[in-house]
Amino acid sequence: MKIALIALEDDKIPFEGEILVDTIRFPSVDSMLQESDLQGIVLGQAEEKLLEQVVLQILGDPGHGLLPLFICAEIPMALAGLVEPGGTDFRKIRARVGEIGPLLKILGRLPEEADYEERLLRWLFVRPEGIVSPVADFKGPQLYTYHLLEALHPEPSKTKTWISSLVGRGLLTEKGIVDRVRLCPGCGQGHLNFVDRCPNCQSIDIRKHDFLHCFACGNVSPEADFLIGNHLSCPKCRAQLRHIGAEYDRPLENQRCHSCGTVFLDSEVVARCLDCNRVSVPGDLETVNISHLSLTEDGRLAVRNGTLRDVYAVFDREHFATRKHFEQLLGWIRDMFRRYGSPSFSLVRISVRNVPDLVAQIGRPSTIILLEEFSRRLRAIMRDTDIPLRLEEHAIVILMPATSREKALVGIKRLGVLSGESELPGRDKLQVDYGLLAVPEDSDGKESPAILLGMLNDRVTGTL
Ligand SMILES: [Zn+2]
Ligand SMILES: [Zn+2]
Ligand SMILES: [Zn+2]
Repeated sequence: MKIALIALEDDKIPFEGEILVDTIRFPSVDSMLQESDLQGIVLGQAEEKLLEQVVLQILGDPGHGLLPLFICAEIPMALAGLVEPGGTDFRKIRARVGEIGPLLKILGRLPEEADYEERLLRWLFVRPEGIVSPVADFKGPQLYTYHLLEALHPEPSKTKTWISSLVGRGLLTEKGIVDRVRLCPGCGQGHLNFVDRCPNCQSIDIRKHDFLHCFACGNVSPEADFLIGNHLSCPKCRAQLRHIGAEYDRPLENQRCHSCGTVFLDSEVVARCLDCNRVSVPGDLETVNISHLSLTEDGRLAVRNGTLRDVYAVFDREHFATRKHFEQLLGWIRDMFRRYGSPSFSLVRISVRNVPDLVAQIGRPSTIILLEEFSRRLRAIMRDTDIPLRLEEHAIVILMPATSREKALVGIKRLGVLSGESELPGRDKLQVDYGLLAVPEDSDGKESPAILLGMLNDRVTGTL
């Protein structure tokens, strides 16, 4: 076991003067980063800004980013979740390093080409609890932050989309809700002012009063308006009110608008965004559960087997038929058509051409988010009776029974329209081709299923 002790400000090395086994002392971070055979790192004291900078530098280093990292001082808020607790107690440091060391060994060195997603999942893998926790950041735009995710993601403002992608793919799971926040649907931030206002004219000039209700004329007015000397008298019909329950009562309504005079029980509540000024009714606010995020068994396996890099795995949630089953069904529907002249059917091939280019341009996790979005759209146009087959890694074939060429085209066009509506940045970056083969329009149905699939493969009918 080798634990690095590093001096930062004042050249003060942590645990200076103490005799500790298994430690190496370094005068600076840069000299430590040259050493490859370490199992833990302890930073000396420094002001918060410098500590933050050093922690991010170490996290981003391929050879040292996963190591348990301690600071020999109280952990500042900004570093919660990035460094291990207990950095002032060497026994705790040793114990933690002993826990993480064997798991680091299982994974081996971080590959050069590993991206931020692989780093995150590896970071979680080597920590037995495998959890990343939210930290309250009430001055921040979304009220909570995940420091680790923000530290690793090249665009920290996009961690929310990243989290839902990780959870959606079953790599992380939400474990234990910490809070629930409401965010402005316009700008996505959480600083809102809730105001109650008049349900009739939307004025906020409303006040609470004790009201009385005159039975003789139905007038409802504040109690003060009825008081004349020691008596109650209706300001409208002048009736003397002596007996509550017989001549008057107290209505449920207890608020009055001073702009339009309406008397009401429930005011209307709206939320005004303190950032973009948008006014929303509570039901329109985006509700987000803030939870601990824990690495799943699938996530662990993906880290160990290196299968994380398969961006096309996104499509595997579509419940594809196997090739054999697909050809059987295709053969059956073709035989039906040949014998009875119906039902007609269509085969649609959808292929995404530019996934490798996208991975090179915008990175693998962002490409996955685009593909997930596309996969969701695909699901939306498919009917229960349609049968999908994953033909190649980037191409899907859908068998659509009782569907004419014309109807199949309508479905495909809808996919195009839906893709166009996507709100994701870079939404037009997916290049999608489609091929369409309809029976009887394009073939008399005499070909075998394998040949029909081959014919489909050769045609590009259009681009979405
Ligand atoms: Zn807003
Ligand atoms: Zn009003
Ligand atoms: Zn009256």
